[in-house]
Amino acid sequence: MTVGDALLEALNSTPVRDGAPVDLWLDGPELSRWSIQHGGEGAAAEREWLRRIRDTLQAVVRGENDPDVLLPLLTGVRKVPRVVGARLEWIVDVEAERRLAVELVLEWARLQTSSPGRLRPCANSECRLFLLDRSRANTARWCSMKTCGNRLKARRHHERRRPAPPSAESDAAEAGPSAAPTAQSAGGSAVRRGAARSTQVDQVAATASEPGSTGTSSGMDQARRAARTTAPAPAQGEGAARIAERADQPHAHRQPVPSV
Ligand SMILES: [Zn+2]
Repeated sequence: MTVGDALLEALNSTPVRDGAPVDLWLDGPELSRWSIQHGGEGAAAEREWLRRIRDTLQAVVRGENDPDVLLPLLTGVRKVPRVVGARLEWIVDVEAERRLAVELVLEWARLQTSSPGRLRPCANSECRLFLLDRSRANTARWCSMKTCGNRLKARRHHERRRPAPPSAESDAAEAGPSAAPTAQSAGGSAVRRGAARSTQVDQVAATASEPGSTGTSSGMDQARRAARTTAPAPAQGEGAARIAERADQPHAHRQPVPSV
């Protein structure tokens, strides 16, 4: 494992599945397995610390909280010297149940120094994963180009191609060539039902995480979602410019066709 891997796994333990956020670490045996894999003991008290520190680090990396909030979690932690062979090492001196959680904070701290700004949330506002950009260009925006990157590209492309005026005719056109000419209103309501469904999914996503959240994260999650729904889409950058260029091509092609 390279630096940041364990931290990234911890941060990414609350993915969105089927439209709703889930907490993979709510499962005790699952979290115990993770802990033991990373040198922990898998005990209940340790699991509590891991969840607490993960929630706090997620909020810090998302910019919802200042790093100050980490300090109370590090109370009493010391580093002590130890000689290993011909080398002097500094080891974390803390109760066994806190050690792994504290190591995650230290890993975050090391990244802040060695790779500032490279640990960040996925640019897809519906995704709760994080990425650690190890590329030279440092321009990665999505947890995965295969999932979030391509999905957002396809959606923006679709939005660019959609006719602007929301009339009954355009609704019918949107329903696709298979829609019968007499089914204009049915096509329209299907589109509207689709829109209503996506709103419901958002609401489910907003409420589903509350029972699983601990401490202050519930309020923070709500605030974050509120910000997401009101704020404009995340910074578009050059990636969006490229998509826009591509999306423009079909329009340019369509323009010369005279309207009858
Ligand atoms: Zn993502």
